[in-house]
Amino acid sequence: MSQLVESKGLIISSRNYKEKDKLVKIFTESAGKMMFYVKGIHRQNQPLAPAIRPFTQAVYIGTFKSEGLSFITSVKDVHAYRKIQEDIFLSGYGTYLLSLVDAAIEDHQYDPNLFHFTQQALERMNQGDDAEIITNIFEIQILQRFGIAPIWTHCAVCGETQGKFDYSSKYGGVICERHWSLDPRRYHADPRAVYFARMFSAISYERINGIHLKEETKQAIRQLIDQLYEEYVGIHLKSKKFIDQMKSWEHVLKPLEKKGDAPATEQEEVAEEPESPLSADPTDHE
Ligand SMILES: [Zn+2]
Repeated sequence: MSQLVESKGLIISSRNYKEKDKLVKIFTESAGKMMFYVKGIHRQNQPLAPAIRPFTQAVYIGTFKSEGLSFITSVKDVHAYRKIQEDIFLSGYGTYLLSLVDAAIEDHQYDPNLFHFTQQALERMNQGDDAEIITNIFEIQILQRFGIAPIWTHCAVCGETQGKFDYSSKYGGVICERHWSLDPRRYHADPRAVYFARMFSAISYERINGIHLKEETKQAIRQLIDQLYEEYVGIHLKSKKFIDQMKSWEHVLKPLEKKGDAPATEQEEVAEEPESPLSADPTDHE
């Protein structure tokens, strides 16, 4: 029964348990999220310590239980997302992404696509790509795991794919300007925000390098996604509140960073990939 298995995994969260132990939630590639009981972690030279820090990926070897607590015996290939670990802003975004993963699927649910998607998001963030854009893409694509699949690709009324769009709950997706009158209670979102939400719904993380957004566009996107989450997901994560608050003090801590002030350009290019990396998954979370 206690056969050892191994799997790649990402640390989702870690908390102290009793005096010297920890409960660590790991998103494993081969068996979904699981809670692990790690003993004596506060001892010096506990070999597992670096592998269970937040924002770490490793291969975890141990006993994986389908119910109750699992155990780690050893680890290999430990990879820390060091930049995220060391930067309070990045850890804010990273924590939020991981909390979304935790909220979106059940423990023990096999979901390698979401595993890879999460891994990519953290990797990108760690490499210095825009954490807000990475987060927005994550939020939009993970909606599917909450059982929500808005129509982004075309007007939900007539199929139009070009022009200005708004979001309509009534039609469960975007509607083109010609059909705005059909839903007076549409979101009245900034068309630029809807433009980028549509792009983000189908983009893969390899293609985000060239996207640079102005602060006001970012704010409009934030508003749109908040409205979607409020309406369809309805969870209020502490980590989300933290990044919202962070906005008000981040420029105080980073006053010198944008000295050169290169003009912000926004790349406008509609993603051509029809499918998001996540929508290919047949094991939909309902
Ligand atoms: Zn239309």
